[in-house]
Amino acid sequence: MVSQELLEILRCPNCVREKDGLLKLYRDAWLVCQDCGRKYPIVDDIPVMLIDEGEKWVKTPEAQLPVPPPAK
Ligand SMILES: [Zn+2]
Repeated sequence: MVSQELLEILRCPNCVREKDGLLKLYRDAWLVCQDCGRKYPIVDDIPVMLIDEGEKWVKTPEAQLPVPPPAK
């Protein structure tokens, strides 16, 4: 599990400068940006907050996200 405290401070690195970039936790495995739809995988309890990584999943519907996310 990712700690609640960490989740509360994490923001989408793509959006945070201009918007809120709030992230929604999906099945304890993904963080979904509420502004741009990028989806950041949580691998080994560590959120991978890379814009390029989030970009890969931007068009994937939440229901089709692999759980657990693919390891690097
Ligand atoms: Zn975003």
